Amino acid sequence: MSDYSGFWVFVEQIDGKISDVGLELLSKAKHLAEEKNTYTAGILIGDFSEDEAGKLFLHGADKVFLFSHEKLKNYYSLAYSKLITSLVKREKPEALFMGATPLGADLAPRVAAQLETGLSAHCVDLRLGEDGILEQIVPGFGGTMMAIIVCPEKRPQMATVMPGVFKKEEFGKNKGEVVKEVVNLSDEDFVPRIVEHRVKEMKTVPLEGANVVVCGGYGMGSKENWQMLEELARILGGAVGATRPAVDEGWAPEDVMIGQSGKIVRPKLYIGAGISGVMHHVVGIQDSDIIVVINKDPNAPFFEVCDFGIVGDVTKVLPVLIEKLKERLTQ
Ligand SMILES: Cc1cc2nc3c(=O)[nH]c(=O)nc-3n(C[C@H](O)[C@H](O)[C@H](O)COP(=O)(O)OP(=O)(O)OC[C@H]3O[C@@H](n4cnc5c(N)ncnc54)[C@H](O)[C@@H]3O)c2cc1C
Repeated sequence: MSDYSGFWVFVEQIDGKISDVGLELLSKAKHLAEEKNTYTAGILIGDFSEDEAGKLFLHGADKVFLFSHEKLKNYYSLAYSKLITSLVKREKPEALFMGATPLGADLAPRVAAQLETGLSAHCVDLRLGEDGILEQIVPGFGGTMMAIIVCPEKRPQMATVMPGVFKKEEFGKNKGEVVKEVVNLSDEDFVPRIVEHRVKEMKTVPLEGANVVVCGGYGMGSKENWQMLEELARILGGAVGATRPAVDEGWAPEDVMIGQSGKIVRPKLYIGAGISGVMHHVVGIQDSDIIVVINKDPNAPFFEVCDFGIVGDVTKVLPVLIEKLKERLTQ
């Protein structure tokens, strides 16, 4: 175990643009490394110059391991996992983090399996325990409690974290070491190949970055009732989010699901209607400035985390709220 040191991050890129989640994880890794008196490193794979790789220093990397080749511009499961696995075997970091993104969800288990180590998916926090061992925090038991996961016998410990869980920080540092790695791959490592990469265009205000988020849960009851949320969001210039059961019911698309396995939001105002408030959802909204909850059950756990709570039926409360806000806006 003592051979392993350093907190590492695989920094994902899409179309040559470095994703924020990698920089958020590097920022977190920097704090963990300082606490443990060790170093941080980023793994960057793509078609990048050493100068571009050096941009990771600002966000907390002490070292960057760069695999640069034009064939690596797009993500290839086999090629990327092979490069990371051999590098990690050689360098022995104590922890390796990746984004809980579609790419990370494909790559992280492959790497973990090849390294024969554990992987904690969708962590909502990473911290050091009293013994200095990394603790990976994941909501468990239906979201009613937080599970602390440690990997006592295998290194590196691996974790994936959703975009937005940690803040991207700048440390005012522009020096470090870029280690240019040799790309040793064969044609077989580039199957399956990506045929096309499409970016979905959003017609509504995107959840990320919205100042107001109106979110509905299973208690909304129907697709017709859901329209009240869309109207409320329109009036407030905000975005609509959903819990998993609301998505499962088909009232909202999956890409607006908020929570541990959905998006993380930090709006100025969050309004949650017909939502019970288990940890799986709460972790996605808890950093909102003001949290308003509407639920007909006065004992709903969501009332414990809100700033303002309205005990009432959404079908009665929402129409009044919409009407009053419309009146205000036309005054
Ligand atoms: C590994 C894992 C990951 C998960 N990830 C996520 C995630 O990212 N996001 C997520 O949301 N969930 C996630 N879940 C699911 C999560 O555990 C909960 O099941 C879910 O968040 C509950 O959604 P809900 O509050 O809409 O529904 P419910 O728990 O069914 O709550 C509905 C609430 O509506 C209230 N209500 C009912 N009718 C009315 C009415 N007419 N007026 C007012 N209030 C009413 C009820 O009192 C109740 O409190 C995950 C689960 C697992 C196991």
